[in-house]
Order: sequence, then C-alpha cells, then structure tokens
Amino acid sequence: MFIDYETFRLRADALQARIAATCAAIGRHPTEVALLPVTKTHPAAAAEYAARHGFAAVGENRVQEAMEKRPQAPATLRWELIGHLQSNKAKLAATHFDRIQSVDSEKLLTVLNRAAGELGKRLPVLLQINAGDDPAKFGAEPADAARLLDAALAQPHLQVDGLMTIAPLSDDPAVARRTFVRLREIRDDLAARTRAPLRELSMGMTGDLEAAIREGSTLVRVGTALYGPR
Ligand SMILES: *Cc1c(COP(=O)(O)O)cnc(C)c1O
Repeated sequence: MFIDYETFRLRADALQARIAATCAAIGRHPTEVALLPVTKTHPAAAAEYAARHGFAAVGENRVQEAMEKRPQAPATLRWELIGHLQSNKAKLAATHFDRIQSVDSEKLLTVLNRAAGELGKRLPVLLQINAGDDPAKFGAEPADAARLLDAALAQPHLQVDGLMTIAPLSDDPAVARRTFVRLREIRDDLAARTRAPLRELSMGMTGDLEAAIREGSTLVRVGTALYGPR
C-alpha cells in the first residue's frame, strides 16, 4: 500500500529541515536550494501529495508514465523530465513537460527546439553532463559540454536554465562530491565563457543531497526519502 499524506508531510518537513541545516552549516540561504519530489514508479497520489504540500513541481523519468499521471494531479503542478529521452519521444516530452533536465545531445536539442516551436512555446531545459565519467550513466561528456551549450544557446525555442548530473553509485562519498565539484566547475567555466547565467545546478538525490548542497546544488531531486523505496 502507498503511504498516506500525513507520512509524506512529515518526511517532507524532515527533509526540508535537513536541507536547511546543511545550508546553515555553510552559510547558504535555504531558499537557494529547491526540492524536487521524484514521483516515478509511485501512484498519481504521490504528485497530488507534493502539490498539496506546496511543491511547485515533480520529477518523472519516463514520458509515458508522466502522461498517465499528470491529468490526475492539480493543473498548477509543473512536471520535469529527469530521465533519458530518445529523440523519437521528444515531441511528446515537449508537449507534456514544463522542463527537461536530461538533454545530452545536439540531435535532441534540434528535435526539442522544433517541437517547442510547433507548440508555440519556449521550453526550459537543463543540459545533463556525465560529470562522474560513469559508463553506466547518460549525459554528455564534460569535454563536449561547451559544444552542447553553444548548440543549445542557438535554439530560439529553448531556454537553457543550467546543468544536471547524476553521481555514480559508490560506497565512497568522495566520488559523489568530486562529481558535484566537477559539475560546478564546468558551469562556472561555461557561464564565464558564454555569459549565459546557467543558474540551475540540479544535483543531489536521497543518498548524496548534503554533499550536493555543499558543492552548490540549487535543486535536489528526491524520491526515496519522501515516498519510500521503489
Ligand atoms: C530516481 C531519480 C532520482 C531520485 O532518486 P532517490 O535516490 O530515490 O532520491 C533523482 N534523479 C534522477 C535522475 C532519478 O532518476
């Protein structure tokens, strides 16, 4: 059985307190770090709980799953795609998501731009970078990040909000920390070079969110700590 709203509310409050404590320890203001509840594999109620608690958006990793749940959730809730996207689903993704965090190729940029243009909207995106050099992860190679950003900035129907990464699974917390430092450095470098603000650094999940916040995350994507194991 899925958790009830009260359980969700308590977990969300505890998580916000963890985020605030981490921010306080390093002198960041807690409003600099947003929390994106990740509702993938959970019933549509997961998204409804998030909306009821006042979250502005939820994250899903599959287009089809989000399309099924979205009509059951409050219309004001925004949906962000955080999972790998194939070009042949780009039109659907551009239609049903408010932001796409997993853009990792020039081909995808081109297809998304065309779809957004047809829909008459400017679609916010993040560029996913494989900052942990993890062969098991999607994302552009760090060496290709500059080229990918140039291509993204040239698309009139896309708005580049920043970068996203997923740290490699590891027992060693230093691996995640290194990954987050690397993403921040890539962002700082690209922002200086292009003058694009690249405000958003989407990094950190249930297991590594404190490290991510310490290294500059502006958006932690959390599923397990809110909704339980998948
Ligand atoms: C599933 C997922 C998350 C949430 O992971 P938890 O460990 O459950 O918090 C975050 N980001 C991405 C890209 C995911 O696919």
